[in-house]
Amino acid sequence: MVAYCFKCRANREIGNATQTTLKNGRLATQGNCLVCGTKVFRMARG
Ligand SMILES: [Zn+2]
Repeated sequence: MVAYCFKCRANREIGNATQTTLKNGRLATQGNCLVCGTKVFRMARG
């Protein structure tokens, strides 16, 4: 699973990925960039 890291400005593997539900009811995955440790966030498809 990868997400866009704004610090690396690249798609990075998500570390400690956890699934979360947004206020609008959509699923998303959040975790940390394995390269720089910045929090990254990825919307689930659909
Ligand atoms: Zn990064």
